[in-house]
Amino acid sequence: MNSEFINMKPIPYGRQHITQDDIDAVMETLQSDFLTQGPKVAEFEQAFANYVGAKYAVAVSNGTAALHLCTLVLGVNEESRVITTPITFVASANCVRYCGGIVEFADIDPETALLDINKVRAMVESKPKGYYTGIIPVDFAGNPVNLEEFRKLADEFGCWIIEDACHAPGGYFIDSKGEKQLCGNGKYADLAIFSFHPVKHIATGEGGMITTNSDELYQELLKLRTHGITRDPNLMEENHGGWYMEMQELGYNYRIPDMLCALGITQLQRADAGLARRKGIAKVYDEAFATIARIKVLGTSAEALTENGDTGHAYHLYVIKVADRKGLYDFLRQHNIFAQVHYIPAHTMPYYRNLGYKKGDYPEAEAYYSECLSLPMYPSLTAEEQEFVIEKVKEFVG
Ligand SMILES: *Cc1c(COP(=O)(O)O)cnc(C)c1O
Repeated sequence: MNSEFINMKPIPYGRQHITQDDIDAVMETLQSDFLTQGPKVAEFEQAFANYVGAKYAVAVSNGTAALHLCTLVLGVNEESRVITTPITFVASANCVRYCGGIVEFADIDPETALLDINKVRAMVESKPKGYYTGIIPVDFAGNPVNLEEFRKLADEFGCWIIEDACHAPGGYFIDSKGEKQLCGNGKYADLAIFSFHPVKHIATGEGGMITTNSDELYQELLKLRTHGITRDPNLMEENHGGWYMEMQELGYNYRIPDMLCALGITQLQRADAGLARRKGIAKVYDEAFATIARIKVLGTSAEALTENGDTGHAYHLYVIKVADRKGLYDFLRQHNIFAQVHYIPAHTMPYYRNLGYKKGDYPEAEAYYSECLSLPMYPSLTAEEQEFVIEKVKEFVG
């Protein structure tokens, strides 16, 4: 089919969707008494905690700050060894390095590109208990990790879990009891993190969130987000009067302004609609590519598929695998379609190579990288634009 659609404006792989409600909410907050540390922060946190089904949420300046606060409150230090996936944004690994810890990668499951639990199990079983301190699985592309399985393994070997759920707000997997477990709900992971970068589901420009069900971790996160300072008289060692506050630990300024929280609140109100649209887009791609042998679609984890045909996949990305990935990437660009590659394996980055990793260390991740391409996937992608993308992909693979 030859679409009559003439593509004038560039089609990116992901983009934000800003409405008049969003703009009004930001303007209103700009004219309010608080630009930061005001009421919109707690309001956004409460709304987000409800959305993912967690007890607590802590809003921060970005997803990377969220990861850093997580490794801080879990006590990562020079002796800590933490396992994560090479197919992720580098921040998932870097947060361990910020605290001086040792990053160890484990290879991916080629079907889903998620951290392969069998590889992780082989690693932890090969060492005495306590050798590894934590695991950071990533709900890559929006495909939820089976955290119930990871929790069992982590408990057996005394590890904590940080779920990097940046790709998966609204995503879920079905656990062994048949129950729906939302990404970031805090049931199996100690902490989960999200990002509100414009390509993610909920956009605030910069922004991030940590969710947890632990009272203790929650209190620590609040303190470290603001310089390690507490103003709660019940937690202070001394009290000199109304002005008194105590800096008890070395914390940071990882706060998010109220304007951005106001934006987050209105964005969150449309999250379900955005997610439904993402699933709809995925379905159209699935159907278009189903019969084309030269296009492989990245698999959905079995636990994400429910009986009624719904999926717990949150579709941050729609990834296909093709032999001539560079050719396809360049061809699409010529047609103003800006597909993207997620991700260059973290262990092949010069920084990690300098720490001793080398190409060849994680063959599944490297094989995946050689073929993967993320096609446009965002709620405001029009049916015409998607049709144009499909047409161009098909034209290239022949
Ligand atoms: C976006 C992202 C981050 C980092 O979030 P920022 O808000 O950009 O700091 C971390 N991990 C993953 C998997 C991401 O996609």
